[in-house]
Amino acid sequence: MKKYVFCYSQKYAIWKNYDMKCFWCGEPLRIMDVTIDHIIPERLLDSEEEFMEIKEKYSLADAFQINDFCNWVPCHSTCNSKKGKRVFPGSPAFLMIIDGVLRKSEKVKDYHDKLLSNVKTDKQIGELLTNLEKGVISDSDLLILLTRTKYKHYNYAEKENKFKELIPDGWKLIDIDDYGHGVIANGKASGLIPLTVEPHHSWRCPHCHEFGPWHGSRCVNCGRTSVELD
Ligand SMILES: [Zn+2]
Ligand SMILES: [Zn+2]
Repeated sequence: MKKYVFCYSQKYAIWKNYDMKCFWCGEPLRIMDVTIDHIIPERLLDSEEEFMEIKEKYSLADAFQINDFCNWVPCHSTCNSKKGKRVFPGSPAFLMIIDGVLRKSEKVKDYHDKLLSNVKTDKQIGELLTNLEKGVISDSDLLILLTRTKYKHYNYAEKENKFKELIPDGWKLIDIDDYGHGVIANGKASGLIPLTVEPHHSWRCPHCHEFGPWHGSRCVNCGRTSVELD
């Protein structure tokens, strides 16, 4: 019989949901000491007949799986080997154990699913941040994508209303940065504008004489850069 190989996330989910204690002795269990025990021994995978008998004896559902959260508990390796490969007699105490693990299994499974999806999310965020840092994706690409998708539904209406006079036609206020500047976008480009009625003169484009929007040193309105020589 090939022994089931647990992944770390399964071990962790089982350990965490059994209060970080050994199922058999009840003593605290460190994560590096966790072994996973099968209540109904794994060797029964090799003897269909005996497994059917056991299933009947313990009134296990047809769907009962030996390698599933409904049959897995955390324990010390010493406690695991002490129990060995015995199948416990069909005592009421053992039936209660099986029932308890079965009832808990849904919660452990949910926890494990969440754990995996968090890992997936974290990986994607990590990749995104790496790509932003490397410049594979630029901040403005990201802003444009956000205005096309996410921010389309984002409710900046209240703030937009407050600054209505200051936002050029066809542009949308999508954020206000740490300095109080408006980040605006029109689905094609993004830029910064001052959110005051009388902006500092440095905001004025030397070419088109508008207050941006600015994309770095480039005026999005006329497309020229502020440092460019005439
Ligand atoms: Zn133990
Ligand atoms: Zn300009």
